[in-house]
Amino acid sequence: MIPKLTLENSIQPVYRSFIESLSIAGFTGDIEHSYSSRLAVATDNSVYQWLPQAVVFPGNTEDVTLLMKLSQKPQYKKIHFSARGGGTGTNGQSLNNGIIVDLSRYMTRILELNIEESWAKVQAGIVKDQLNKALEPYGLFFSPELSTSNRATIGGMVNTDASGQGSLVYGKTSDHVLELVAVLEDGSRINCKTLSGSSLQAKLTQENREGEIYRQIWATSRNLRSEIEKTFPQLSRFLTGYDLKHTYNPERESLDLSRLICGSEGTLAFVTEIKLSLDRIPAYRQLVNVKYDSFQSALRNASVMLKAKALSVETVDSKVLDLARKDIIWHSVRNLITDVPGKEVMGLNIVEFAGNNKHQIMRKIEDLCQLLEEEMTHDRSGIVGYQVCKDLASVKAIYTMRKKAVGLLGSTSDRKKPVAFAEDTAVPPEHLADYILEFRALLDANNLSYGMFGHVDCGVLHVRPALDLCDPEQEITLRKISDQVVKLTTKYGGLMWGEHGRGFRSEYGPAFFGPTLFEELRKIKRAFDPHNRLNPGKICTPSGSTEKLVSVDAEKRGSFDRQISEMVRGSFRDAFNCNGNGLCFTFDTSSPMCPSFKQTGDRRHSPKGRAGLLREWLRQLETHNTNVLAEEMKLEQGNLMGFKSLINRTRNSIAKRKGDYDFSHEVMEVMQGCLSCKACTSQCPVKVDVSDFRARFMQLYYQRYLRPAQDYVVCNVENYAPLMAKIASVANFVMDQGWSKRIAKSTIGMVDLPLLSQPTLQKRLKNQPAARFDLTQLECLSSAERDKKVLIVQDPFTSYYDAAVTHDLVLLIEKLGFQPLLIPFMPNGKPKHIKGFLHSFKKTATQSSRYLNRLSELGIPMLGPDPAMVLCYRDEYAQILKDTRGPFKVLLLHEWLLSILPQRQPCLDMNKKFYLFAHCTEKTANPSTHEDWMRIFRHFGAELKPVSVGCCGMAGTYGHSAKNIRDSKGIYALSWQPALANLPEKQCLVSGYSCRSQVKRLDGKRLHHPLQALLRLLT
Ligand SMILES: Cc1cc2nc3c(=O)[nH]c(=O)nc-3n(C[C@H](O)[C@H](O)[C@H](O)COP(=O)(O)OP(=O)(O)OC[C@H]3O[C@@H](n4cnc5c(N)ncnc54)[C@H](O)[C@@H]3O)c2cc1C
Ligand code: SF4
Ligand code: SF4
Repeated sequence: MIPKLTLENSIQPVYRSFIESLSIAGFTGDIEHSYSSRLAVATDNSVYQWLPQAVVFPGNTEDVTLLMKLSQKPQYKKIHFSARGGGTGTNGQSLNNGIIVDLSRYMTRILELNIEESWAKVQAGIVKDQLNKALEPYGLFFSPELSTSNRATIGGMVNTDASGQGSLVYGKTSDHVLELVAVLEDGSRINCKTLSGSSLQAKLTQENREGEIYRQIWATSRNLRSEIEKTFPQLSRFLTGYDLKHTYNPERESLDLSRLICGSEGTLAFVTEIKLSLDRIPAYRQLVNVKYDSFQSALRNASVMLKAKALSVETVDSKVLDLARKDIIWHSVRNLITDVPGKEVMGLNIVEFAGNNKHQIMRKIEDLCQLLEEEMTHDRSGIVGYQVCKDLASVKAIYTMRKKAVGLLGSTSDRKKPVAFAEDTAVPPEHLADYILEFRALLDANNLSYGMFGHVDCGVLHVRPALDLCDPEQEITLRKISDQVVKLTTKYGGLMWGEHGRGFRSEYGPAFFGPTLFEELRKIKRAFDPHNRLNPGKICTPSGSTEKLVSVDAEKRGSFDRQISEMVRGSFRDAFNCNGNGLCFTFDTSSPMCPSFKQTGDRRHSPKGRAGLLREWLRQLETHNTNVLAEEMKLEQGNLMGFKSLINRTRNSIAKRKGDYDFSHEVMEVMQGCLSCKACTSQCPVKVDVSDFRARFMQLYYQRYLRPAQDYVVCNVENYAPLMAKIASVANFVMDQGWSKRIAKSTIGMVDLPLLSQPTLQKRLKNQPAARFDLTQLECLSSAERDKKVLIVQDPFTSYYDAAVTHDLVLLIEKLGFQPLLIPFMPNGKPKHIKGFLHSFKKTATQSSRYLNRLSELGIPMLGPDPAMVLCYRDEYAQILKDTRGPFKVLLLHEWLLSILPQRQPCLDMNKKFYLFAHCTEKTANPSTHEDWMRIFRHFGAELKPVSVGCCGMAGTYGHSAKNIRDSKGIYALSWQPALANLPEKQCLVSGYSCRSQVKRLDGKRLHHPLQALLRLLT
């Protein structure tokens, strides 16, 4: 039995007292101090892990003011704070072991929008893509781009002065900040914008913290102007902390404090509101993908592209391209970056042209294409081919692939993982190719593997060398390489932190700025934050203090992970593979990953949150000398669930009910919030499979605690559904009574349980050939006879709760000229897997696969109507049975339909139109789902338009659990409800049983399976 996990790491008394006072002082946001909440913000996308004491989620600027005012009390003077947005920093910028102030949960509003003057005032926690989505109808956008645009906040972008693709034209975040509101360390609120003349004089004479700040900056900016001009590198990228170069304008004698706060990494103030200048969305965007024989050729050729007046040039190396080829993302770009016969594409330049004059853009593209043709004719520049993307959808698809590239670098089965520590160096673009040659030599000399890509137009290179930071020796390598990269960038007139900020690399600041200028930075820090309380140790410490800067050697995630045995790490590899890049935090409601995070806004309830919690849980078990694999083995052998275990579990559950703490309860709460939709399994760049480790965790947890009755009800649905169908009218009558619904809710915690289909499938198919399955007879058929047959693998949900669909499937197969046969119902086991009854699931999977393997020898295609259940045979079966699964294949319906299309004449009459709402497990596991269905419908004479939606919120039985009902409805409201509201009901088709039942219960609409629409087209 797993032990109870009490925590070694409790909150320091002063912090406990502070957060208690905060909650009574009228703080309107959330205050969290559970271990799981703290862990959720203990990492970002860097190699570091720092556990804070608490996390607070302010609701507005007043909350931040209150927080800092309270912190002025003498007893709280030692407390420190770090602001946090999306937590996508690559160098630990937002990590701190004090209090994390997360502005991303509630401070997400657009406060004011002025279309005529093209500006917006926003709260700091709004995500960049979220803002742009709201601006799109007005033809405006916030132009600085970054790869994490679907999860990074404007507050984070301001504080790292973020920029990326297109920065030569659109500039950096700081170029767009017109004004901002900030809360200072003493709790005062300041408005920052360009000031000169009397308004500046007024500030300079103020007798308060703001006045001190103005006086210090005024003195530094003017007195050290030449030093500043000399030291700050001549790059289009700005170095974070502090932008003295642009804060003061000598011609206008003006100061702009917002410019100084941009890029200050949360070390000067909390930014709560920002007024941003906006750009017009260019009417035309086109892009040329230029293919090269090497990365070096691509780099050297980039300047030619720029001369062609491109908006941006992005370069990707062969390693990144190869990883993209293996990912679901390739599906969307494979026709845009096709192979070149007889050549290997080893580098790619993505060259974008954008503007409002279509003619001009076309001409630029034509000129470039002509140039490329000439180069290719003369075999110059290593160009092996090119392709033009003419429509916006293709342009966006290419950038989505490019944005996912960093994450893709992490998808390796090796123990060494690409890590961020020198990943955003910047040198003048003209030196980039030579610089990279040396950089590569440095990495090669240390036997490190790596992939590279970057914004070559401004000399920024992204590279993540692969290291195993569970090995202390490799931590030393990280430090060594880090130091050498600093030297190398200096040699080429660039800098190490060229795009993503300084964070734990702050120790390199003094050498870079030199003693005089660095001391001035420290004076500025002192003016803002005299006691070093805001993100301490980053950028610089206050002048006169003896506090230390953070260092590259700071505590890393590896030092926690390595406490777990290698075997366990290997077995739970998914949880360790998560590199924290945060793609699972995407705000995009039409993306399937991750419904539980989108609904709750709680980062614990995301793949990253769950992976982090599981790692810590394994570490805690290890410190309690528990071998989790041995525990699993005992369970598999059935050794642990006897009478004695029942007594123990009862005792432990009583203690739990009385409030006895066990860290496993926190992990359980977060695992229970997961819908097991499996979107992360394919959408996460490193394919973190939460549903798998969640099931394993649950199994072990319930070795110590009693399971709720609901789990047994769900787990046995495949046993009782066929029995209940025999007395469907009686069963439905009972289930439909108010008292029985109340009993179901109070005893098993389930609501809105579906009624059985009437007439039942058995009645519908009575005396029909499809119901006369006889294996012996099938085995005697000739191969020509077998060619006519199709076997239907039933699932409990479609057959017993949506029997019309299975019946229509039979009719459709017949209409298509085949003879369908219904395989007698046999359990699939998926409900057991979802609830973590893995031992029992394995038994079911063994029996089913044995039978299905036997059937597959007939050579007759087998297919199933429900995608999630069919895919379970492929995924969960392979995981649990490994080699013993056997070769049987159950096809998704559209896979079979595609296979028979060549035998049928296409219908040319396209006068019908349908909309497809595909199941998320299906479209994420099988990226061609939409295209396949579209092809099928086209063949049958109808147009099918896929609708971009996320999860429906039902996910098997998740939506029927009383405690999930609010979240289930919330998830439905995110994308399904609005999408369905605007479309004609009769034309909407839904492939998943769960989704159809969710639509029926929440919108009262009975939508059809695509197969039913096809059947109507044929009759
Ligand atoms: C895969 C990947 C790709 C990336 N690509 C790019 C890129 O193309 N261009 C680029 O510029 N960056 C890039 N980054 C880095 C990162 O996304 C940016 O730095 C981003 O701006 C951080 O935003 P965030 O909301 O996640 O901030 P966080 O990481 O939460 O915080 C970043 C810093 O800002 C401070 N901060 C956050 N909010 C506030 C606030 N309201 N007030 C005061 N301080 C605050 C924090 O204390 C911290 O110091 C990438 C990161 C990853 C993981
Ligand atoms: S779970 Fe996947 S998408 Fe989420 S942070 Fe981890 S690696 Fe990134
Ligand atoms: S299975 Fe679905 S709900 Fe669970 S973590 Fe993955 S994406 Fe989120």
